[in-house]
Amino acid sequence: MVTKLGLVPAEPPRSRRALRPDLRPKRLAILGATGSIGRSCAQVIAFAPGRFAVASVAGGRDGAALARCAIELNAEFAAVADPAGYGDLKAGLAGTGVEAAAGPEAVREAALREADLVVSAIVGAAGLGPTFAAVAAGRTVALANKETLVCAGAAVMQTARRAGAMLLPMDSEHNALFQAMGAREPETIEVMTITASGGPFREWSAERIANATPEEALAHPNWVMGPKVTIDSAGLMNKGLELIEAHFLFGVPPDRLEVVVHPQSIVHGLIAFADGSLIAGMASPDMRTPIAHCLAYPDRMASGVRPPDLAALGRLTFERADLQRFPALGIAIEALRAGGGAPTALNAANEIAVAAFLARRIGFGEIARLVGRTISAMDAAEELAAPQDVAQALAIHHIAGERMKRLLA
Ligand code: MG
Repeated sequence: MVTKLGLVPAEPPRSRRALRPDLRPKRLAILGATGSIGRSCAQVIAFAPGRFAVASVAGGRDGAALARCAIELNAEFAAVADPAGYGDLKAGLAGTGVEAAAGPEAVREAALREADLVVSAIVGAAGLGPTFAAVAAGRTVALANKETLVCAGAAVMQTARRAGAMLLPMDSEHNALFQAMGAREPETIEVMTITASGGPFREWSAERIANATPEEALAHPNWVMGPKVTIDSAGLMNKGLELIEAHFLFGVPPDRLEVVVHPQSIVHGLIAFADGSLIAGMASPDMRTPIAHCLAYPDRMASGVRPPDLAALGRLTFERADLQRFPALGIAIEALRAGGGAPTALNAANEIAVAAFLARRIGFGEIARLVGRTISAMDAAEELAAPQDVAQALAIHHIAGERMKRLLA
């Protein structure tokens, strides 16, 4: 049974494992197995021998790395999205009995293999198709890929409700909010706050930020993450994407969503209720905690991470986000408020701008500027209607991408 959220069961499910210790292992499909989240998943799984069985793994293009993951996790099926990676995957799996396949259809197959939980951790819009397929099939999906909700949030949530799929937020902020929210209805929320560490440029001047190098932007003070999300974090675009994600995931309107800068990254999300209560979700800044929460849900399991020692930390500080120095956050908030296809276009333009910055084709300050120009250049009525399905979301993604490429040329 799901509430109108399509997210939180009205009553937390009874722990099947607690009732039946002899229960079979929970079967997992891990999409994005070779990435940062996928690697942390493997560490958590290794912490609980016999508790999980891996039905399938999928990766982007590194066939050899995916083969190593599949062997380590004892997976039954491995799919590499880029057919060019097939040779290495096949060679790496020779003699192991693990099935190998390549191409987008194979990744979709990995998402739809018989499993109790699908971990969606493919970076970028590439994760949209397979994640949507799992949701449409009514699966329980642990969502680390925020682009799925940013690109096609309304369609994904509607499909989840219709198919009876449950979404478990694996992004650290949303996971903390999910835990703080319990089974309450979204209308009871006064303000939902996501924290930002402030990234490596928290105390930098606007001019210095605009001229930052990829090395400087990749040096995140608190989190070890993949390059795309690390660059997004440095300019606070990541927080903007996370506000959009929270809006769809929890059904909270844009004017009740906020960002606060919290450099220690111990509090990840806060929910204020009408009676003045403020509930904070806290954990050490380590992805293994939200991963373990999702993998074991509704149970708990050891993740290898200890809870924060508040006395040892001494103090936790909070400050307002500065939209002057971090214009990407302001642009993302505008896209959230505009709704429709604006978040889809924002995400597409940002993906290309971040890649261009990492390739040293543009400066850091250009990322937000060009993303803003791309969205303004799009026709609101014709090109920015709310996507009703994956095909429409990908069409907006494509148009915005083409506009951004033209700006870059
Ligand atoms: Mg996050």
